[in-house]
Amino acid sequence: MPSDRQHETPAPATAPAAAHAPASAVPPLVAARGTVPPLLPGQPPLAILVDYDGTIATTDVTDAILRRVLGERYAQDDAAYSSGEVGSRTLFSSQVRLLPGDPAPVITLADAQPHDPTFAAFVSRALELQIPVEVVSDGFGFYIEPALRRLGVPSIPVISAETTFDGMCAEMAFPNGHPDCLVCGTCKRQRVLAHQAVGRTVVFIGDGESDRYAAAYSDLIFAKRDLIRLCRSAGRPFTRWHDFGELKAWLDAIVAAWRSNPASLPRHVVRPFICGPELWGPGRTDPPGRNDGAAIP
Ligand SMILES: [Mg+2]
Repeated sequence: MPSDRQHETPAPATAPAAAHAPASAVPPLVAARGTVPPLLPGQPPLAILVDYDGTIATTDVTDAILRRVLGERYAQDDAAYSSGEVGSRTLFSSQVRLLPGDPAPVITLADAQPHDPTFAAFVSRALELQIPVEVVSDGFGFYIEPALRRLGVPSIPVISAETTFDGMCAEMAFPNGHPDCLVCGTCKRQRVLAHQAVGRTVVFIGDGESDRYAAAYSDLIFAKRDLIRLCRSAGRPFTRWHDFGELKAWLDAIVAAWRSNPASLPRHVVRPFICGPELWGPGRTDPPGRNDGAAIP
């Protein structure tokens, strides 16, 4: 697991598998919308938040759709987002108007994207261990639950935007955006803080730009691709990962270690705000960029 230095390889799974609670004793881990399940006695104080694009789907499905519908504008929008000049909610609010009213072509495109076949077994194991898992995605969102069903993933919360099609046009709502900060379409940060508030150590698994804020507040970070660069540049400890098969072994090991010694699990440490209304003030639509003279975290 990450400590105060970077790990370039996954932590080895050397501990034996943890004993499972009987299925009848496992409380529901899918909470009502907007809430998180309480931490009950005997449960490992862990929550796992997982990005979707480039993480469960091994390609970025949102980007694949945007390349299709935006054409030459895609590179311009992507550069503006990656450099921190514009927020995703601003971009999505404009881009969604270019989606076809009939979603069939983009659903076909999304369905054709490859996914990590080991994700379902990872989720099943986490739920057996009474550890909640959530998908947190700052994308269009409409293709996630169908993809999870195809993969055989047990029912877990999907925290994302909601894109709907009426045959004439597409519309996008942001029910999981921050009410006072309009930078991101989905505020992954709020999900991290919500799980921490009930006493859980939060594990974040992701791959890129849309994870930068959530990872900054998380207690353990598993990173690949651009998230590695972002963690390095911010000096954040992380563990490099490749697929959910290795994370399943890591999960068994860390829970077994916790059962032997509860102090072995990293505890949540409150970190200073690097984003959101607490730092930027309410109503901001774009992160502070070069024009503000402020560093992008
Ligand atoms: Mg991603």
